[in-house]
Amino acid sequence: MQPIRTFNVSPSLPPRLEPLRKLAYNLHWDWNVETKDLFRRLDSDLWESSRHNPVLMLGTISQGRLTEVVEDEGFLAQMDRAARQLEDYLQERTWYQKQRSSHSADKGKECYAYFSAEFGLVDCLPVYSGGLGVLAGDHLKSASDLGLPLVGVGLLYQQGYFAQYLNADGWQQERYPINDFYNMTLHLERNPDGSELQIAVNYPGRKVYARVWRVQVGTVPLYMMDTNIEPNNDYDHNITDQLYGGDIDMRIHQEIMLGIGGVQMLKALGYNVTAYHMNEGHAAFSALERIRVLIQEENLSYDTAKQVVGSTNIFTTHTPVPAGIDLFPPDKMLYYLGYYADIFGLTKDQFLGLGRENTGDLSAPFSMAVLALKMATFCNGVAQLHGVVSRQMFKGLWQEVPVEEVPIAAITNGVHARSCVAKSTQELYDRYLGPNWSSVAADSPLWERMDAIPDEELWRNHERCRLDMVLYVRDHLVKHLRDRGASSSDIAQAQEVLDPNVLTIGFARRFATYKRATLWMRDIERIRRIMLANKDRKLQFVIAGKAHPKDIPGKELIRDINHFISEQNLQKQVVFVPNYDIHISRLMVAGCDVWLNTPRRPREASGTSGMKASMNGLPNLSVLDGWWDEADYVRTGWAIGHGENYEDPNYQDEIEANAFYDLLEKEVVPLFYDRDADNLPRRWVAKMKDAIRLNCPFFNTARMVGEYAQRAYFPASDRYYTLTADQYAPAKELANWKGKLTEHWFNMKIKDVDISSGEDIEVNQTVAVKAKLDLATLSPDDVQVELYQGTINADGEIVDAVTVVMDYEGNDTQKLGIYTANILYTASGLQGLSLRVLPKHKHLATPYEPRLILWAQ
Ligand SMILES: *Cc1c(COP(=O)(O)O)cnc(C)c1O
Repeated sequence: MQPIRTFNVSPSLPPRLEPLRKLAYNLHWDWNVETKDLFRRLDSDLWESSRHNPVLMLGTISQGRLTEVVEDEGFLAQMDRAARQLEDYLQERTWYQKQRSSHSADKGKECYAYFSAEFGLVDCLPVYSGGLGVLAGDHLKSASDLGLPLVGVGLLYQQGYFAQYLNADGWQQERYPINDFYNMTLHLERNPDGSELQIAVNYPGRKVYARVWRVQVGTVPLYMMDTNIEPNNDYDHNITDQLYGGDIDMRIHQEIMLGIGGVQMLKALGYNVTAYHMNEGHAAFSALERIRVLIQEENLSYDTAKQVVGSTNIFTTHTPVPAGIDLFPPDKMLYYLGYYADIFGLTKDQFLGLGRENTGDLSAPFSMAVLALKMATFCNGVAQLHGVVSRQMFKGLWQEVPVEEVPIAAITNGVHARSCVAKSTQELYDRYLGPNWSSVAADSPLWERMDAIPDEELWRNHERCRLDMVLYVRDHLVKHLRDRGASSSDIAQAQEVLDPNVLTIGFARRFATYKRATLWMRDIERIRRIMLANKDRKLQFVIAGKAHPKDIPGKELIRDINHFISEQNLQKQVVFVPNYDIHISRLMVAGCDVWLNTPRRPREASGTSGMKASMNGLPNLSVLDGWWDEADYVRTGWAIGHGENYEDPNYQDEIEANAFYDLLEKEVVPLFYDRDADNLPRRWVAKMKDAIRLNCPFFNTARMVGEYAQRAYFPASDRYYTLTADQYAPAKELANWKGKLTEHWFNMKIKDVDISSGEDIEVNQTVAVKAKLDLATLSPDDVQVELYQGTINADGEIVDAVTVVMDYEGNDTQKLGIYTANILYTASGLQGLSLRVLPKHKHLATPYEPRLILWAQ
């Protein structure tokens, strides 16, 4: 039955309780223990049953309970305190202002737009699937903490990502609960006349309309588009139905809405964006739309428009494997987006070339990552090792640039401390370290106070977290089994799983096969022995995670674990917790004792759940991949293996499973159960303290977002103001210069390189080098001539090179440019020298931006 009219009914609160509404509609409640406590206090059952959704709570709470709390002085005092904390929080975001105080005021108001296909902020907003989303959510939270002028852009999925349950055979089933936007922490954006704000985006043969919902994340607004409205046709209603749902056509529809719709939406909302950040390639179509706008509305040429867009775009890649990248067939690209080629004045092949590493390969699919890399001047991977892997993976885009210089930087991921550390643990840190522990750097004297936390207090607190998790897991399992109609004996058994006093290993993440969720049970006899042989030194596992609905091998892993549990009769000691989400994650990273990760190196780009565990004081036990490879894995946990890469996966599994068992037997179990007279594991607690002190300040989005700001947002925003001044004159000049450079570059010749010494030189002996270049029609101001020197490896290549910029000394009589430099070799052995020319212009983001380099032959 279709309604004849619909109403948006908002919660009715007694006036004295109005502050609750404001608190409920700003996600700041999620990382402010006082506010969260307040909602729990309001009605703890409703808090749990609403999935910690304060808006739904206020809409459904009984009038009786509201009347009660109006009379409750304690409650009102806490509410007023929380309201004041929110006010103060919104006023006191000063990091950004301090950083940019020298930034002259006339440049106007900066705005950084952060595009992501998913955002994982709180469990009552299920529009995320896993790590990428949670990272994006934490990015917004820390951007708010730092006071950055950042806005988020995403899609609001009607069904979001699926809820997981298991059938009796342990096979993953998916359910798609419908999100009720009107009972979520969402504001519908409206026009001044009160009507819904809508955008209209071009799709083949029609327009698709979207309305806009805002989630307020502290000071940062996140805008999400929703196509489930009239007059869209049925198919278009479903564009924002499911995260990563549907086929490749649906995927393109979604990415058009995210990228192209996102740009239109920001404009409709009145933002003048100065830097764009594409979190993964899903939003890369935004670059096409931005170019179109500049061509059609600002009358720029394609080259100038592309220059402005590239100079202000930031791209973060998250996958170290080609299979993780969106690739679209050329015919579909032309069908959906070919009209951009006409607007840009490009042939179809030139247009498709924007998404091809090798533009001459006319059969290659269109890669969203390649488009993003070509359309951005700051690109990065998400951990140092991932930076190395990404430079290798994409080096073809910068022909002849040495791989270590490929301009893909690394900014290591982090997590938002106030979101992932357990409440009681936060209060403990607040008490002993002071409230700034969640954001200060590693060199802050605050961390010296770690030793002031009594071992006993830290340990008892941790034991309470373990107990909380065990109780939650039991409850959660019982509910899950009831829903499934399981037998009463199964339900009774679920009430007794796990032992709150036993060493607990946690493993929770997406079930992709490379993460090897079953490595720990590879040798059944051995793991049984470790778990059961000694009654006083038992070991138990808590495991959680979802497989993508189409990932059959991933689902098989989940089933294998559940079969293992029943076949080995280990129901009490190994638990698979269904429907992993942010809430379960927070309980697990606080309540387990060790955090396990066994990916196949180097396929885990970063990984973040281990960082959350670290902040709660858990040692990590992990393969040296992602973030763990750059952590202090000796003091804050244990490394499985030594960072080897293997050819034979089976052999690798064998070696690494054995390394894991050895560590358990020789290190982890003995350390955990080594208790003193007070029954305290002193040396274990020391490791916990190291994990907190060494990892919390660094693997933290406070540090990470600060780094994005300094390295990417500020420079991109500066370039925006520079290039767009005087009706885009500098952008036009730069684009023309690039055109001229490309045209004449290959006429340039390195004529002569004269080195002042013979083949044998001594360490620290000065060697004078003089080179002569025919710059053809280019000027000495257009180029940078560099010596490139380093050790020669076994393949005869220069490695570990350093570069020395040569001085221009004028022209000789034949009009050749003369360049000189003196160099020193500080190490002995076979050393090599080469010479190269790179483009030089004051508005280039990097010398690699024009993708031109000339080497001496
Ligand atoms: C942190 C988190 C992840 C990411 O964990 P990884 O270790 O990066 O795999 C995934 N899902 C949820 C719910 C999380 O909280």
